[in-house]
Amino acid sequence: MPEVNLRVPAVAVREIRLNTITGFQGNASDLVRQSRCGGLGEQSRSFTQCLGCSTSTAACMVTLVRDGIVISHGPVGCSSCLHEFAFTYRVNAPLRGVDQPTQRHIYSTNLTEEDMVFGGSQKLADTIHEVYGLEQPKVIFVITTCASGIIGDDVEGVCNEAEEELGIPVVAVFCEGFRSKVWTSGFDAGYHAVARKLIKQPRTDAKGQPVRRPIINVINFWGSDVFSRWFEQFGVTPNFITPYATTDTLASSSEALVSVEACTTLGSYLSGALEQEFGVPALHAAPPYGIPATDRWLRALGAALGKPEVAEHIIEADRATFSPRIAELREQLAGKTAYVTAGAGHGHSLLALLSELGIDAQGAALFHHDPINDFEAEEADALIATVADYGDVPNFNICNKQEFELVNVLNRIKPDILLARHGGMTLWGAKLGIPSLLIGDEHFGMGYEGLVKYGEAILEIVENNEFVTNLARHSINPYSQWWLKQPPHTFLERAS
Ligand code: SF4
Repeated sequence: MPEVNLRVPAVAVREIRLNTITGFQGNASDLVRQSRCGGLGEQSRSFTQCLGCSTSTAACMVTLVRDGIVISHGPVGCSSCLHEFAFTYRVNAPLRGVDQPTQRHIYSTNLTEEDMVFGGSQKLADTIHEVYGLEQPKVIFVITTCASGIIGDDVEGVCNEAEEELGIPVVAVFCEGFRSKVWTSGFDAGYHAVARKLIKQPRTDAKGQPVRRPIINVINFWGSDVFSRWFEQFGVTPNFITPYATTDTLASSSEALVSVEACTTLGSYLSGALEQEFGVPALHAAPPYGIPATDRWLRALGAALGKPEVAEHIIEADRATFSPRIAELREQLAGKTAYVTAGAGHGHSLLALLSELGIDAQGAALFHHDPINDFEAEEADALIATVADYGDVPNFNICNKQEFELVNVLNRIKPDILLARHGGMTLWGAKLGIPSLLIGDEHFGMGYEGLVKYGEAILEIVENNEFVTNLARHSINPYSQWWLKQPPHTFLERAS
């Protein structure tokens, strides 16, 4: 197992921990086979258009902790996109029953050229104290940037000193953009910070045994609460990590019965840390998208909680309720083709959803690929599960949001539908006249009910394509005819 080491301030990035890659072209089954035999190598690009940054993904996880604040230690430009998490927090709050979402507060130390020469440690210490005086938060997260990493500021030392002075956790999150080509490493950096400074060891009972409470850790983004309906039948409740969590709910997540993830790619590092360091078992099952995965996930949960009969009851009831509509949707969507662009784990789940609804998945552009997960459990790998349940997916591209490749592929394949997970990607499908669907609620497609909801959403965009048809008619494609005639992976090279 790639070991979690909470004694060091910085998490090992995915390239080192998991041999993660950002370049591949082939079939999904080839990717699975090469990942299993250890023969998967990175294919670099001789030209790239853009890259994401780990500081943003780390901020994504810690900004949404309800009673915390975030300081970006770097030039102000590095925090210029972080306001989007304040927006996300506000608009998704109703999905989690948070009636009055508090304003998110994100600060920057605003490092200047002079600070780059003389150091920014004192500025950081002053900022922490000033922000504490203004807000009295329960935790301060300090996210690092390329600039503070390059000049070698002692961010950990400054945070530890401030923690002693203020009496609250002041947590350094090491997520400089240059640390990793895989921006998902930023999620791990945020989780590493939470695990090493906020999660407490479970209390012990009179016999010295760790206390376990009827809660299940749900490591996720900000999707709707589809879990309570299932969990209440097992007599447990969800403990959401980290969006809308508090320092108290994070601290006591070590007393949960089990941890599950909305997406293995997102959550396996923290699940692994909770298992290894705090004794909370991680559920080794791919997330519940598509009927086979839903059944396996519910059964694994029933086994983990010692209540297999409850899992069988839920499966039977949901099957009876939703199967007739699923069958209708399969008929209505038969013969349609689709292409997916998303992060790794959620993309695998979207491919399962499409296949379950009888739609022909003609390819995918997913942002990275982890050959293993942090608890080395193949049962938790959604790509392995999807290929085993539904068969191969052609045109399987690992592509860290290189839009020039996406446009080239879409222009060739011309699927009936584009499913995207991230804002900014659907527009490329729409400009080509392809009905494109982005559903920000990543729990929307879970379970039997999710198949119905997703199927109806897809049906609606396929039947109402007038907007994209008009848009395509009036759009100018910024990519030249020369590029559109090249093989889409012209710039992908085999690493030596
Ligand atoms: S890559 Fe570096 S410089 Fe660019 S936003 Fe991220 S931390 Fe800042």
